[in-house]
Amino acid sequence: MSITDGKQPFAISGPERQRNVVLECPYCRDQVPNLVDDFASGDYICGNCGLVLGDRIVDTRSEWRTFANEEGDDPSRVGNAANPFLDGAQLDTLISRNGDNGSGLARDLNRTQGRTTAQRHERNLVQAYKEISALCDAYDMPRTTVDIAKQLYRRVENEHLQRGKNNDAIIAACIFLACRQDNAPRTFKEICALTKVDRKDIGRTFKFLKSKLGAATGTTSSNDLIARFCSNLNLDQDTRRITEILTRKAKDMDNISGKSPVSIASACIYLTSHLMGSGRDAKAISEIAGVGEATIKATYKTLYANRKDLLTPDIFTRAPKASEANLPSP
Ligand SMILES: [Zn+2]
Repeated sequence: MSITDGKQPFAISGPERQRNVVLECPYCRDQVPNLVDDFASGDYICGNCGLVLGDRIVDTRSEWRTFANEEGDDPSRVGNAANPFLDGAQLDTLISRNGDNGSGLARDLNRTQGRTTAQRHERNLVQAYKEISALCDAYDMPRTTVDIAKQLYRRVENEHLQRGKNNDAIIAACIFLACRQDNAPRTFKEICALTKVDRKDIGRTFKFLKSKLGAATGTTSSNDLIARFCSNLNLDQDTRRITEILTRKAKDMDNISGKSPVSIASACIYLTSHLMGSGRDAKAISEIAGVGEATIKATYKTLYANRKDLLTPDIFTRAPKASEANLPSP
């Protein structure tokens, strides 16, 4: 083909041009055309006479500079960065399900390929990662938490710990663990509401994974919970600090033993918010903390009965606006 037979030369560029088409300059008509790619201006130019043969060529070179080898193809263009959460370099081939105009051949090939175990393993992982990301996004969890959850899930998968377990429960437990490891713990109830997995199931799977994956599971400190709950309830920093102190004291009280840390923290938030004159009702705290209203009230009753031990003078020096008179009687 020559440039004179009506085809636009600028549609052909790069290696394709070299393989299929021979361009020649209509003026020089050299058998061995001396064409120059001027990528800066996007022109094909005849190297002998300077005629512009094409004015919209595509720059096919890499968009970075390689200093190591000046000649030959740039070997650094090798596709996407490998996903560290998947095995291998993901340089395998995927057969499309619908590339054959409906003859069914592509679907069969796709299915056959899907039967190989390596493929299935990979696909399960990808599926689980998608689910973890979607769930974590729903709670606006940071990237680091999501990555830790994925890493945990991968360990579970690699060590074949998921046998006979509910996969949703494993994902839920991984997210729960990841939140702890990332120092942003969530309660079982929150994970339960997020994943729609039964609380007992999450608890059981969590214990199982904790024992199998080793000690790196962290703990749920009530301070982390209090910080988040107070922030969600629009309570100020003073209230948060006083709540932390009271929670610590309350935990050491004899007659409160048996209450869960979340219940104690919730009741302390109830108490402190009223103490500081910005009282939140038990219902609001219940919704944020996932603790029943009745539980908060009952725990508060115990705290109120022991308020002499809790509200020591140092509390009032820390927070001048605190007043015992603000406390509602249970
Ligand atoms: Zn020419």
